[in-house]
Amino acid sequence: MSTVDVVTTERLGAVARITMRRAEVRNAQNTALILALDDAMRAAAADDAVRVIVLAGAGPSFSSGHDLKAVVGEEQADAWRKLRRTPEGRMKHERELYVEKCLAIYHLPKPTIAQVQGHCVAAGLMLAAMCDLIVAADDAVFSNPVLRMTGAGVELLVEPWELGVRKAKEFLWTGDALDAREAWRLGLVNRVVPRARLARETLALAERIALVPPVTASLVKESLNQTAALMGKEHAWRYHFMVHQFMHGTKTASDALKARKKSGSMKRMLAERDRPFAPASRRSR
Ligand code: ZN
Repeated sequence: MSTVDVVTTERLGAVARITMRRAEVRNAQNTALILALDDAMRAAAADDAVRVIVLAGAGPSFSSGHDLKAVVGEEQADAWRKLRRTPEGRMKHERELYVEKCLAIYHLPKPTIAQVQGHCVAAGLMLAAMCDLIVAADDAVFSNPVLRMTGAGVELLVEPWELGVRKAKEFLWTGDALDAREAWRLGLVNRVVPRARLARETLALAERIALVPPVTASLVKESLNQTAALMGKEHAWRYHFMVHQFMHGTKTASDALKARKKSGSMKRMLAERDRPFAPASRRSR
């Protein structure tokens, strides 16, 4: 599949709707998708007729996160994936392809809205969090189970900024999912709408925001992002990125990857690892 097929852009008046199209794998983000998304975002940013950008995912889910198939050897590694064979290469891969591409969306000089349905997992949540607003379908489920898999979150630690520090700890340590209502209550999403009306309601919100003169919308976005920067958001992200890199390089992480390959599935590997620690509350007496 060429890179143009995995992401499409529709022009709906002053709104550009950019859609990830790897529905068959819940829009798992592989290199092709990340690069195509970056191209589409840049093109929409450069187009003076576009005032607001909607980021959507085709199919039942917004995004299941980074596509790990090439990492665990179930798929041919591309040039970016091959970089991961050394710690310095892995850092380059994650910095340039994951962090910088996400930050480019975060700093895009136009309002952006993530349109989220179904699963929004790990790097899927990271991607949604780069958008200014999030509209969720009532079937949306947010989770970041990578701590259970031994990762130190994903590359950008968005959770404390989205959920508050205390809830972020619970969310990350348990890997438990938040449903759309709870995500709304915590301030992670702006609105929850019925699944059947998700695209329509997101477009209607985008059209309202498109009424703001572009220069005003852009300047206020910059000022709000600067407020978050002064609270330490981007410094905290840079710090976390190095923590994340360190964790990747630990024996704990490489042992988990080996065990994952050996058992053939993440679920099985985790069940095996958890067995000696079965909760006392559930042990038979
Ligand atoms: Zn990583």
